[in-house]
Amino acid sequence: MDNIAITKSTTLKEKYKDPSELVFGRRFTDHMLQMDFDPENGWHDMRIEPYAPVPMDPASSVLHYGQAIFEGMKAYKSPEGEILLFRPEENFMRLNSSAKRLSIPEIDVEQALFGLNELLKIEKDWIPAARGTSLYIRPFIVATDPFIGLRASQLYKFMIILSPVGMYYAEGFNPIKIFVEDEYVRAVRGGTGFTKAAGNYAGSLYAEVIAKKKGYAQVLWLDALENRYCEEVGSMNIFFVIGDELITPMLSGSILPGITRKSVIQLAQDLGYRVSERMIGIDEVYEAHAGGQLKEIFGTGTAAVISPVGLLDWDGRVITVNDMKTGPVTKLLYDKLTGIQYGDLPDKFGWVVKVQ
Ligand SMILES: *Cc1c(COP(=O)(O)O)cnc(C)c1O
Repeated sequence: MDNIAITKSTTLKEKYKDPSELVFGRRFTDHMLQMDFDPENGWHDMRIEPYAPVPMDPASSVLHYGQAIFEGMKAYKSPEGEILLFRPEENFMRLNSSAKRLSIPEIDVEQALFGLNELLKIEKDWIPAARGTSLYIRPFIVATDPFIGLRASQLYKFMIILSPVGMYYAEGFNPIKIFVEDEYVRAVRGGTGFTKAAGNYAGSLYAEVIAKKKGYAQVLWLDALENRYCEEVGSMNIFFVIGDELITPMLSGSILPGITRKSVIQLAQDLGYRVSERMIGIDEVYEAHAGGQLKEIFGTGTAAVISPVGLLDWDGRVITVNDMKTGPVTKLLYDKLTGIQYGDLPDKFGWVVKVQ
């Protein structure tokens, strides 16, 4: 299992000069990882090669029927210069849960972790050290069968590419404005909402574009049956601080089970907060605001980490949260989580994995 062919690039790219100039997802490192699947050999031929376009048959299934899934994780540089990953096995396990739902053959988690480790060793100089910056890791699988009959593809490609990143939102750690979407829906029970399937995002872009034009950073999706219960934000799970309790929508099948979400629940409970995973209607959020009990809202996700929400617009009714300022609970959880991720705070939950 633990062998991997490595072809080093002979022409290395110019790296960023100032990490504060890094934007999200625009630049990629010198190498990428690939592995192929066919029914005879299973997943095989894991290799690291120079970053380059991937030749593809125009009939490839992914281009027609969209069998594509991905993951998002980050590598951080510790003050001692070590490379740290945050719960990486969770990402590959979730990739497999997405794979299963999309009829894509599952990968070997240990092998994927090994391959990622080798890729990161080669690209370690690309990992920025400044707080708020990191090396974003994008594993993905696409269907490559050159066949346009409608069926699950027989051939697949697994890849990992890497991108040095800064803050996800232009707002930085300042609160974002969110549009509560009550016309279009992202996912429905029984569908693929719990997976990182490419199609989920394609279907969500239209509402996001409209919201952006109106000046909102993202939309808050409501449930598809009643258009009432909060689900999540574009690429983040959502938390409400109401009174002294943290509330986040329970995992229902249509919500992405975020690893940041899961970690924040554990961190908050450890800090003594009461955390509820339950259905929460947007009407309940507005009532809590009217009663002065809605203290904070924040989103959680690997890309955006913990992102304060300062304003909601639901059907023209605009409310601001904590005067459009980052609240104390959001700040505390952000500090604790990033402290662990960057190796500044002790990792008492055993979440951090060193690349070596
Ligand atoms: C990736 C993602 C999240 C966050 O998941 P993490 O594991 O915390 O990065 C939340 N919602 C959606 C729709 C996502 O794609």
